Amino acid sequence: MARYTDPVCRICRREGAKLFLKGTRCYSKKCSFERRQAPPGQHGIRRRKVGDYGMQLREKQKIRRIYSVLERQFKGYFEAASSTPGVTGENLLRILELRMDNVVYRMGFAASRAEARQLVGHAHFTVNGRVSSIASMQLRSGDKVEVRETHRSREPFKEAAELIKSRQIPEWLSVDPAKLAGSVLSAPRRDQMPLDLNEQLVVEYYSR
Ligand code: SF4
Repeated sequence: MARYTDPVCRICRREGAKLFLKGTRCYSKKCSFERRQAPPGQHGIRRRKVGDYGMQLREKQKIRRIYSVLERQFKGYFEAASSTPGVTGENLLRILELRMDNVVYRMGFAASRAEARQLVGHAHFTVNGRVSSIASMQLRSGDKVEVRETHRSREPFKEAAELIKSRQIPEWLSVDPAKLAGSVLSAPRRDQMPLDLNEQLVVEYYSR
C-alpha cells in the first residue's frame, strides 16, 4: 500500500498547525513546529495569498493527513458521508473517528495514530472477541475492542495502562485500563470530537 514516507513534521509546517502525528514528541520541546513554523521548502517564508480554493484544499489535506488516509480512500469516505442522512461534514469526521486505528489511539493504547495503525496491523487487538488487523475497519456503537489476552504482557502494552490514565478519553468511548479493553458507547457527535477543523471547507472542495 502506498504511504507517506517523508518526515512527518513537514506536514505540520505545511498545514500551519500542530497535527500531533508523532505521539509524545508533539507535547515536548522537541516539536519541530514549535521551533519553526514556516512552510517547508526554499520559498516557505514567502507570504502567499490564499484564495477560497486554496483554503478548501488545505483543510481537506489537513484532515486527510491527521487520519493518514490516502486521497482515493478519503474521497470514498466523503461520498459515503454525503449519502448518509445528516450534515455531510460531520458525517465525514464521524467516519474517520470510527476507524479502528483512530479508536485504538483515542482509547490510549497508542501514543499516535501511526503507532495505533501499526499495532492493529500486527493483530494485537480483538473486536467483539475476533482478531482484527484492519486499521480502516469501521467500528459501531457497542463494539468492544481488547488487547489480545496473550499479547497483554508484550512490549507495546507494558506501559499502556499508565498511558491510558494520562489521556483524556472522549465521552463516546469507555476504557478499562486494567483489562486493556474498551467499548464504543455511541457514534460521536460533533461536539464530542475535539478537532479544530472546518469540515465545511471539505464539503465545498468536493462540491466544486
Ligand atoms: Fe507536528 Fe508532532 Fe512534529 Fe510537532 S512533533 S511538528 S506536532 S508531528
